[in-house]
Amino acid sequence: MASSLIRGKYVVCRALGDDESEIITDGAVFQRDGEIIEIGRYDDLKARHQPDEVIGGPGFIVIPGLINAHHHSGLTPFQLGSPDLPLETWITAKFGQRDVDPYLDTLYCAIQMIESGITTVMHNHALRSAPEGVSLDDWGSSLVGAYETSGMRAAFSFFNRDQNHLVYEDNGGFLNTLPQSLVTQINDVFPFSPISSADHLDLTEELIKRNESERVHIFISAHNVHWCSDEMLSDVKAFGGQHETGIHIHVQETIYQKMYGTRHWGMTPLAHLNNLGFLGPEVSIAHGTWLTDSDIDLMVETGTMLCHNPSSNLRLSSGVAPVNRLLARGVEVAIGIDEAGINDDNDLLQEMRLAQKIHREPGVGVLSPSSHRIFDMATRAGAEVTFFGNEVGTLEVGKRADIVLLDLSRISEPYLDPDTDIVDAIVYRGKGEDVDTVIVDGEVLLNERELTRVNKADVHAELKASLSQPLKSHELNRAALSSALLPHVNQWFANWELEQSGPHYRYNARG
Ligand SMILES: [Zn+2]
Repeated sequence: MASSLIRGKYVVCRALGDDESEIITDGAVFQRDGEIIEIGRYDDLKARHQPDEVIGGPGFIVIPGLINAHHHSGLTPFQLGSPDLPLETWITAKFGQRDVDPYLDTLYCAIQMIESGITTVMHNHALRSAPEGVSLDDWGSSLVGAYETSGMRAAFSFFNRDQNHLVYEDNGGFLNTLPQSLVTQINDVFPFSPISSADHLDLTEELIKRNESERVHIFISAHNVHWCSDEMLSDVKAFGGQHETGIHIHVQETIYQKMYGTRHWGMTPLAHLNNLGFLGPEVSIAHGTWLTDSDIDLMVETGTMLCHNPSSNLRLSSGVAPVNRLLARGVEVAIGIDEAGINDDNDLLQEMRLAQKIHREPGVGVLSPSSHRIFDMATRAGAEVTFFGNEVGTLEVGKRADIVLLDLSRISEPYLDPDTDIVDAIVYRGKGEDVDTVIVDGEVLLNERELTRVNKADVHAELKASLSQPLKSHELNRAALSSALLPHVNQWFANWELEQSGPHYRYNARG
């Protein structure tokens, strides 16, 4: 029996709509074996319980663990040599990056996330061939194992794709436009679909069977509507139903993706998904930057959820998702970093701040997310999309104790108006480095900024050593192909005449 009393000047239990949060001043949370037993005034709880330890004190803000609702990998694409480009060409450039050991990379990032107060992540991993001599199942398990090692919660999925690999067109059609020498190079180097749809489903089924951790949920995923055949999408949907897993997919991240839908199906990709029966309350879509008003209707009707990634959308020239419209309609919107935070790190507090500011449309009286709403999106809504909603996301009796302590003095010193709303203070001023202590399921993972489970220096040293190896021939071939292909992909997209639909948000729109 391990118990603790987690104490703060403020305990922010949960947001209550747009205008307020449930906050206990001079409060505490009493947890035993990871279960929240009681929340109340510190003096009262101290008198009633005999905890094994008291964590925190009057110099802290106690909040639910933050949830990163969309994530892929650890070292950022920029760290690996890919500066920002529009998504469509960025993907081609990113293809040329060197290999990174996925286990070390996942662990490296889990450390960053824990250090910045993230206790749960939606990890969506590109399905690639396993390294030589390793079975696909063991490779998948090792990635999930990185989260088990770290102690974080994760909703983990592999995504697959089976068409339009190079641009938003049938592979054959695009290859016909390229010089023969480049086509030969592509056929030699490019891994079109290394893993079949059946193998993807088998792998996910095996991961579900092997998963014994209550902190891990295995999800199923498809990459994005235009990259997946209807058959693949239907298989993913059926698998989710059969195994009662969450389903995650990128949708309408860019205007090109939206226009692909109107060109190919005469409707948006989301409407196409709806026609396939794909949408539903177990489905979360990443981005949705180009959702139309009728798409928002479909989100509402089907209970489909959104994972919003404002930094990524800014960095990759994708646009601004119509989050004000989605929230007004009651759609569940969570916040993710998508490996491309505005500071090129994994600071969800920073991402919350950006999410709040970017939806401030010009005009007095125009609604935009309040700090309480943003707090709700980064905690409770994140728990919903990762299927941990019954367990975490808020501080409530009976839930699991995923708790973060922020150093109040770092946010409020030397002066902060004493009437300041503390949730405003978190969202306006909080940074990942203000996180002092992180608790998952009652277990302290970060204690006064020191990791308890993982040796950060060792992980960094191992990652650095693995990346100091000279590039292998297949990496050099991939980099060469990426450079050769990039101008052609760039030109292919430059030929599109982008539709001039009215913007959801009128940032300096010309009338
Ligand atoms: Zn993504």
